Amino acid sequence: MGGDFLNGAVIGGAVAAVVLLAMVLFRKPVKCAGCGAEQPKFRKPASGSQAMWGGTTCAGCGAELDAKGNLKTR
Ligand SMILES: [Zn+2]
Repeated sequence: MGGDFLNGAVIGGAVAAVVLLAMVLFRKPVKCAGCGAEQPKFRKPASGSQAMWGGTTCAGCGAELDAKGNLKTR
């Protein structure tokens, strides 16, 4: 019935959310290539591309980093 389908969608969404959360929680912290500072897991993206690609701005030295902690050259 329709109700079963709805329940499946809700459960599937919850599982996806838990998997995503686990990926964030168990990910190794990104270290800045410039100063070695560990970046917080839950960062506030400074731009749309950071939100999209996971880059961050170093909390220690202010350098722009990509998702793996490499310095971005522009
Ligand atoms: Zn740094």
